[in-house]
Amino acid sequence: MSVKVYINGKLLPKEEATVSVYDHGLLYGDGVFEGIRVYSRKVFLLAEHVDRLYESALAIRLTIPMTKAEMTKAVNDTVAANGIVDGYVRLVVTRGAGSLGLDIRRTSDPQVIVIADTITLYPAEMYENGLNLVTAATIRNHPAALSPRIKSLNYLNNILAKIEGTDQGCVEALMLNHKGDVAECTGDNIFIVKDRVLKTPSTDSGILKGITRDVVLKLAREAGYAVEEVTLQRHDIFVADECFLTGSAAELIPVVQLDGRPIGTGKPGPVTGDLLKRFQEFTRK
Ligand code: PMP
Repeated sequence: MSVKVYINGKLLPKEEATVSVYDHGLLYGDGVFEGIRVYSRKVFLLAEHVDRLYESALAIRLTIPMTKAEMTKAVNDTVAANGIVDGYVRLVVTRGAGSLGLDIRRTSDPQVIVIADTITLYPAEMYENGLNLVTAATIRNHPAALSPRIKSLNYLNNILAKIEGTDQGCVEALMLNHKGDVAECTGDNIFIVKDRVLKTPSTDSGILKGITRDVVLKLAREAGYAVEEVTLQRHDIFVADECFLTGSAAELIPVVQLDGRPIGTGKPGPVTGDLLKRFQEFTRK
């Protein structure tokens, strides 16, 4: 079956789903997006993703030309039309085509695009054995310049840090914020476990407020773990018992090394394993 892409109210074969080269999404990275999971034909936490999409759009003063209910239906219809059972949705809203120049008043017709496909972010082996991180020299965007809370089409900050990771043989890289504290990874949030307390950088550390992060915090609290959203330093990771990452594409994946130093035992830890199990159960509900 050929892949069908939703674009502005139509489901088109992917070859025909195109946008203008004058679209400011392409010209300036002017737009917003979401990455969402599908489990057993159900779009996982769709309401949360739609809410964040509209918040990102509001933050960049982009008016999405449809209601949240219409957006929800567009995503569900695209997933169904492609027969996706377990997969991934990329939801994109661009500023639309306009004349050259940054003025948003000269653009019209924001493009709403839904791609339903599959994704394998990290090798299966890393979910068993954990992954290694390096600290990127590229810091996370200063929140006063471009808030990391906005999931914008402008991902160069993260891409530059990711290149540093891949250059050093790592699939992810740790990003610090402008104060030198831990922010997040290039496409994932970060958690540590210390003396059975779960800790993750607070939103004022300059991070994307991950939806998987929120779920893991909730599941951990329900399971009786002490949970803290705090300022973390690289030091806290070096002396942690366990470390893991969360993200819609990554799900929950153990981290066993930072900058060549083993974290804890150097193997995925029991709290990470427990939370992974709880997360997987939650996705199957
Ligand atoms: N941080 C960044 C920079 C991201 O791009 C993402 C999503 N890929 C995340 C964190 C995780 O967010 P979520 O759990 O909502 O997918």
